[in-house]
Amino acid sequence: METDNYLMGDQPMTCPKCGARSEIVSETIENEIFIQEHECLIKVCQYHFTACSD
Ligand SMILES: [Zn+2]
Repeated sequence: METDNYLMGDQPMTCPKCGARSEIVSETIENEIFIQEHECLIKVCQYHFTACSD
């Protein structure tokens, strides 16, 4: 499954599709880059995406 990736900012991540709060489903560090996997908390959206540090 292809997952869209976004840059982590200073603000808590929100769903890029609907703007609702998202839930962190996993956190990993790959090649010194911090990667969070998120899922939108809104049932009708459930957009799945990743956010990584710069
Ligand atoms: Zn959403």
